[in-house]
Amino acid sequence: MNASENQNTIFQKGEQTSADYFTGKAWLNVLVPKDETGSYTIGDVAFEPGCRTNWHTHPAGQILLVTNGKGHYQEIGKPSRLITKGDVVVIPSHIEHWHGATKDSHFTHIAITNITPKGPVEWLRPVTDEEYKRADL
Ligand code: MN
Repeated sequence: MNASENQNTIFQKGEQTSADYFTGKAWLNVLVPKDETGSYTIGDVAFEPGCRTNWHTHPAGQILLVTNGKGHYQEIGKPSRLITKGDVVVIPSHIEHWHGATKDSHFTHIAITNITPKGPVEWLRPVTDEEYKRADL
């Protein structure tokens, strides 16, 4: 990554995310693995342009704080929402959704995710190119 790509980010890039759960390249920096009560985890996720998560759910919800760039958030059966630096997304429990960068912009968000006995996330299928194109008009 060159300096210009990093100029607006707050945290360093972490480990590259698994291709099992993301399309394209993203990096996860785990800022807080687990708080002292075991209730939540906090991570910083940096997406390259065009990168997105698979469809997934959170057994006890998630909050996204957008810190850089432009991205999309979509819940199943609803139009996608353009989200940019400063936006806050409150994701309800069990709602199937995905998040990721627009095709032309890097995108970074902090994710605060509640931990449950099932873990923080249940991964589903990839977002297809057709689904992504419909979101990224
Ligand atoms: Mn999510």
